[in-house]
Amino acid sequence: MQINETLIRDVVSQVLSEVGHDGPIAGRSFAGRHGVFEDVNEAVAAARDAFEQLSQRGMEDRKRIIDIIRRISIDQCVELGTMEMEETKIGRLEHKIEKLKTLGALTPGVEFMKSEVFSGDRGLAVIEHAPFGVIGVITPVTHSLPTITGNAVSMIASGNTLVVNPHPSGKRVAVEGVRRFNRAIYQEVGIDNLTCVMAAPTLETAAGIFGHRDIALICVTGGPAVARAALNSGKRAIVAGPGNPPVVVDETADLDNAARCIIQGGAYDNNLLCIGEKEVFVVDEVFDRMMQAMERAGAVRLNAREVTELTRNAITQVGDDRHDAAHPDFLGQDAAVLARGAGRSVAPSVELIFGETDDSNPFVPVEQMMPFVPFVRCRNVDEAIAKARHFEHGFRHTAIIHSHNVKNMTKMGKIMDTTLFVKNGPSMAALGLGGEGYISFSIAGPTGEGVTTPLTFTRERRCSMIDDLWILGKPAN
Ligand code: NAD
Repeated sequence: MQINETLIRDVVSQVLSEVGHDGPIAGRSFAGRHGVFEDVNEAVAAARDAFEQLSQRGMEDRKRIIDIIRRISIDQCVELGTMEMEETKIGRLEHKIEKLKTLGALTPGVEFMKSEVFSGDRGLAVIEHAPFGVIGVITPVTHSLPTITGNAVSMIASGNTLVVNPHPSGKRVAVEGVRRFNRAIYQEVGIDNLTCVMAAPTLETAAGIFGHRDIALICVTGGPAVARAALNSGKRAIVAGPGNPPVVVDETADLDNAARCIIQGGAYDNNLLCIGEKEVFVVDEVFDRMMQAMERAGAVRLNAREVTELTRNAITQVGDDRHDAAHPDFLGQDAAVLARGAGRSVAPSVELIFGETDDSNPFVPVEQMMPFVPFVRCRNVDEAIAKARHFEHGFRHTAIIHSHNVKNMTKMGKIMDTTLFVKNGPSMAALGLGGEGYISFSIAGPTGEGVTTPLTFTRERRCSMIDDLWILGKPAN
């Protein structure tokens, strides 16, 4: 009789985990851990085991696995979104829930996997997209579990597994989500630990993942510090870095549509999206009408004294160089909280507050991630575009224009050189939410991969057949 050693190890491991034994057993099976680890070496070893098991399965099983992640993200979005809101204490509950549902439903999966073929007189070359292996992943506090959901779907679709170092302030929901994904996948497909997560993430565990020899590729989503760390890691890195998306409004724009779009994008999850509208440059000719359109669309305008008061409270100085940054008490908070910081009271239903500033106000250069958006008056569209470029800081992330002048759109597109450039819509339309295209919450600007898909996480492999299998060609001799 043939004994399946892996199966026996897995069953023993599962039983031990159920009676409270946490460590690996001889033979290093981590089945039953459901992806939750304190130790980087164990997490990477478990993800490597899972990668080897996944490599024995076909595309149909990858799809089954991804469908389980999608199902949990969608069906349990209220519970998990509420958990994320309670833990991170930033953003809006309805959007925390919606992000899980959206990423679960719409993240590109196995349908994005395709091969290329060259055929001709000398035969056939097939280029296929192979997995890297275990990917080291860093996720932000702004969307802890949604980023893991999206990354897991795309990375597993292309045959990889992952070890995630979540932001410490979003670790509990990360752990719970990953545990639920793995438990269901293990029960239904028989592979555990396809996504592993550090239960106590620190900069040391991140460095441990970056430096581990079994980590084949790194994918980080976050601000400038983690982008730099990934690029200095010595490994191939896919970097979804920070943004500070400017909006330009010219004299040809549909101002009411522009106002609705700025509110939709700039207020979403209290302006936590990296693509979210952060500062607006409006040509003088329509500036006052644009401000009125914002009020008609439901945003509340602060006067100059209130803007000064909010700036004093909501912007702070950090680091050795004392540079301006969002104050943690205001980051990701509701417009009503910000309004209080400006000495004003607004209804809880207000999504966005705004006001006129000049470009020396720190809200213009800072990626504020809170639902106050500064509006800057510009002489003409050239000045507006020049300021947009300056205050985007060369991140080349996202820029938006409201205009019906194709020349202005073209000019801004060329000058900004951003990964996403949106015309006449809210920022999220560029991710297929109200526009064409597809979604990912890891938009890799600095390293150039753009809106990531399963193919982003693959290596090209070529398989060549010489002088045969071009069945359309000249008759064989
Ligand atoms: P953050 O930079 O504070 O943290 C992001 C992640 O990096 C966290 O897990 C954090 O623990 C980790 N980290 C920070 N410094 C590190 C270092 N030196 N080494 C290793 N890991 C490190 O950002 P955040 O507040 O969590 O998220 C918001 C930022 O992320 C914004 O700048 C936003 O624009 C950006 N973001 C970008 C995208 C994108 O697709 N480009 C998507 C979401 C968020």
